[in-house]
Amino acid sequence: MPPPHGREATLLPPDHNQGRQPDGTAFMCPYCEAVLPNPGAAQCDSCLRPLPQKGTPTLRVMFPTGELKVSVGQHLVLGRDAGQSPVASTFTQYDNVSRRHSTVWLDPSGTAWVRDEGSTNGTFVNGERLPRGVEAPLRNGDQLRLAADVTGTVQLN
Ligand SMILES: [Zn+2]
Repeated sequence: MPPPHGREATLLPPDHNQGRQPDGTAFMCPYCEAVLPNPGAAQCDSCLRPLPQKGTPTLRVMFPTGELKVSVGQHLVLGRDAGQSPVASTFTQYDNVSRRHSTVWLDPSGTAWVRDEGSTNGTFVNGERLPRGVEAPLRNGDQLRLAADVTGTVQLN
């Protein structure tokens, strides 16, 4: 008796490969209600407005002498001079931190940045010295160091 062949394959149920995403994953622009192909997009392709990211992003830098908190749009100058930096008290005990050392900020897309302001002893991200005036991104868990030994841990969420 010859083995059966051929027919079974055509009787299999169809695969779930119709190419449609389940409902509920659609993500709409809150301004123009265009459907966004990428929920993590920073900008709406239709109206070109920046899109809010989930939650309100906050940048924190945890220094041994205090925790700095930066909100979206805020530029925070780090340094020892109270006339230059609103958080000078965090750094007054460190003689090697400049009066105006560096600036950290958070942009509307939730990306954090740091820029060295021409400090004497340098601004470092994960051990790499930033050239003066260059904007460098900060990621969650990065080590932000001012001068030789003032290290803060970046918390971004
Ligand atoms: Zn839009």
